[in-house]
Amino acid sequence: MAATLKNADPSDSWQAHAFDTVKGGDYLADQDAVAILTQEAPDVVIDLEHMGVLFSRREDGRIAQRAFGGHSHNRTCYAADKTGHAILHELVNNLQRHNVTLYDEWYVMELIFEENQAKGVVAYRILDGAIEVFQAKAVMFATGGYGRVYNTTSNDYASCGDGLAMTVAAGLPVEDLEFVQFHPTGLYPVGMLISEAVRGEGAYLINAAGDRFMADYAPSRMELAPRDITSRAINYEVRAGRGINPKDGSAGGPVAYLDLRHMGRAKIMDRIPFCWEEAHVHLGIDAAVTPIPIRPTVHYSMGGIPVNVDGRVRRSATGLTDGFFSAGETACVSVHGANRLGSNSLLECVVYGKRTGFAMANYVEGRSLPDVDADRYIKAAETQLQSVLDNPGTYRVNDIRQAYQDCMTEHCGIFRTQEIMEAGLIKLKEIQIQAERVKLDDRSRTWNSELVEALELRSLMRVGEIILTSALNRRESRGSHFREDCPDRNDEKFLQHTIASYSPEAGVTINYMPVVINQFEPKERKY
Ligand SMILES: Cc1cc2nc3c(=O)[nH]c(=O)nc-3n(C[C@H](O)[C@H](O)[C@H](O)COP(=O)(O)OP(=O)(O)OC[C@H]3O[C@@H](n4cnc5c(N)ncnc54)[C@H](O)[C@@H]3O)c2cc1C
Repeated sequence: MAATLKNADPSDSWQAHAFDTVKGGDYLADQDAVAILTQEAPDVVIDLEHMGVLFSRREDGRIAQRAFGGHSHNRTCYAADKTGHAILHELVNNLQRHNVTLYDEWYVMELIFEENQAKGVVAYRILDGAIEVFQAKAVMFATGGYGRVYNTTSNDYASCGDGLAMTVAAGLPVEDLEFVQFHPTGLYPVGMLISEAVRGEGAYLINAAGDRFMADYAPSRMELAPRDITSRAINYEVRAGRGINPKDGSAGGPVAYLDLRHMGRAKIMDRIPFCWEEAHVHLGIDAAVTPIPIRPTVHYSMGGIPVNVDGRVRRSATGLTDGFFSAGETACVSVHGANRLGSNSLLECVVYGKRTGFAMANYVEGRSLPDVDADRYIKAAETQLQSVLDNPGTYRVNDIRQAYQDCMTEHCGIFRTQEIMEAGLIKLKEIQIQAERVKLDDRSRTWNSELVEALELRSLMRVGEIILTSALNRRESRGSHFREDCPDRNDEKFLQHTIASYSPEAGVTINYMPVVINQFEPKERKY
């Protein structure tokens, strides 16, 4: 988690962190939001520490900080290589300490949004299929990313873009969905993450010839170049026949190696034990003596639900909604622009989660619960669920989802062209028609995970179509969005955020919104 605590590097500053973030995002980030992110960063790390998060320490007892991709100073605070885990545990402990009610294993199906105001959600209890309306003075979506739209991802199974799909279903727009981050080091073949911390601690990326090929792509940053550049570099090496066959190490295969051998076992076990364990458990590799086969994996969603710097969801480029808030990966305040730097996401979650919490507390002050016709919403949700359960169709959920994920991966991956994406959109529509004829094997209401997967499939499809349409409309290359048919950045036309809406009648509609540029003028991005 990045913050200019200056423990490792006294010459660091929030301005340097802001510049790295804006440059890393290929100048698409909103610079007012980035200034808040980087100025508030040191305080939220200390807040977390006071809540009980166990950060790794330096010899002198202060919080340790390591190098991370695209950051010009060593400013990433960490808990070995389990930082997110450490934060999550303490946050949950704190919720319990303050007697906050948690509804585990409920699936939210719909945002109740009337007269420009969020009034609650409709949710389904996975245990027994009960449907309930939760009325609320304010609603916040923190539903994470959409990695499951693709066939190889580091994300968990719930990252299906439900929050985004519910937002567009309520008639609201989403922002910059074409910017999909591929993390360079997904464990081959499963795609789970080998953290950038491994390269932060000194691991190399090598090709079939044993060369550290990043020297050809980002000589000043090498393995710690931003993720978009590093992921493309790996795929260029594979295309050029310098990839590796993981079975026998010969040339011409689909992976590169992440090489830790020179680091020594003691450092590996001290600083990045979890990554060593992942390679050991899943591939039977001892990374202290054998390099790890990796390839890029879908990791992070730069775009999301458009919000202002207080987490209020935007209705349009200029208008705000009432009572609807969002934070975390599903939100887009746009601090990451077209490509997020590693260790800036947990930071965004905490800085903007905190700001949004305060804004919600202010918003609900003195308000009463809005009126909601709960029966109407419950009946509509019941009808929807029953129609999925009763569908006499011919296709299995898994098969349709796999076909969809394969299509998105093939037609809207690291390298894109108009032709490939247009063909992808036609294929997606065909799969969407098949998805209307999905048949469930389990027709019960008791812990029916197949039913949940059928509901998630609807979100994946909506979000995938918006990603692809947004990418088709952006005829330039910027950050993670790389078009081989338009390889240059085009600031004149596309230094703008994509604002996409969806309706069953009109399909996906694309508009654009200006980027806030108040500190750093866009320049060529070189490392
Ligand atoms: C393996 C991995 C390692 C990472 N490491 C780092 C790192 O070192 N540093 C860094 O800065 N970032 C890192 N990231 C990114 C960062 O962890 C995420 O961006 C961040 O955790 C997102 O948090 P979130 O709370 O917004 O969403 P999530 O943590 O994804 O939580 C979303 C929650 O919403 C729930 N949900 C979704 N849909 C529904 C629904 N319909 N109904 C009910 N609940 C729903 C999900 O079940 C989940 O609990 C990493 C990401 C991954 C995957």
